[in-house]
Amino acid sequence: MSGPAGDRRLLPLRPAPEADAPLYVLYRGPLASCNYDCPYCPFAKRVDPPALLRADRAALHRFADWVAATTDRRLSVLFTPWGEGLTRSWYRETIIRLSHLPHVDRVAIQTNLAARTGWLADADRDTAALWTTYHPRQVRRDRFLARCRELDALGVRYSVGIVGLPEHLDEARALRALLPPRVYLWVNAADGHVYPAAEEAAWTALDPRFGDSVRPHPSRGLPCHAGETAISVLGDGTVRRCHFVPAAIGNLYDGSWRAALRPRSCPNAACDCHIGYVHLKPLGLRDVYRDGLLERVVHRVEEFT
Ligand code: SF4
Ligand code: SF4
Repeated sequence: MSGPAGDRRLLPLRPAPEADAPLYVLYRGPLASCNYDCPYCPFAKRVDPPALLRADRAALHRFADWVAATTDRRLSVLFTPWGEGLTRSWYRETIIRLSHLPHVDRVAIQTNLAARTGWLADADRDTAALWTTYHPRQVRRDRFLARCRELDALGVRYSVGIVGLPEHLDEARALRALLPPRVYLWVNAADGHVYPAAEEAAWTALDPRFGDSVRPHPSRGLPCHAGETAISVLGDGTVRRCHFVPAAIGNLYDGSWRAALRPRSCPNAACDCHIGYVHLKPLGLRDVYRDGLLERVVHRVEEFT
């Protein structure tokens, strides 16, 4: 939103107490299978046994019931499955369901965008959004772009990302040229890859925020929203501050998560994943992404494309 009304929303007269602040919830159930075969991923072409899929579906339904019942907090939910969720009906149905809840500001999922998109017509598209990733060796560019055009036609918010491997650079440039300017293209630094200055500059020309990804952020002892206004939830309801600090701070289903939420500092030496460091307070990235935080859409896309 822009204009005076939007500005007033961003500048409240009194800061809201954190107990009433919107809560960002990252959910990851047992699902760990994927239809793609990316060489940089441990979940490539993994197949989940039927019992695990049943458990994943049951856990997701339980989580969705918790979201529906927790009406005293504004909630924003990001599904971060190990594998691909949108090939499973229960993720599609849950996104539709949660998108219509009045206390849910956002429901988004990380996806390779292989699955059909028509189901999103049944979702509230002001609330549902996608974090998509283009994997050049797994899908043709024109096919991926056709999916993006489907999202455009449906009016669904989405970001497009790519792993910044040298062999992806030409594809990333072509993709940037063909995507609508309003679509943010982000680049993740490849694990273990060292970026000489010229290579970093080439990727930064595509994603001006590539610098956030290319170097881990020292974080030990620094204040982080994780565990205060952001949590990570596992299929059994275990609540952790984020996906990267294994210690549990409570459980979603016994109510102990409420008492666990408080200002916290990071116990890890560094934070190197976007879904973590966007909550690291000194980085101020919530101001960069604002209501696109979960689907990774920068607030002022026009400055980035
Ligand atoms: S699409 Fe994602 S989950 Fe699937 S193999 Fe590739 S990186 Fe892994
Ligand atoms: S800085 Fe990163 S690893 Fe540390 S608590 Fe925050 S999200 Fe977790």
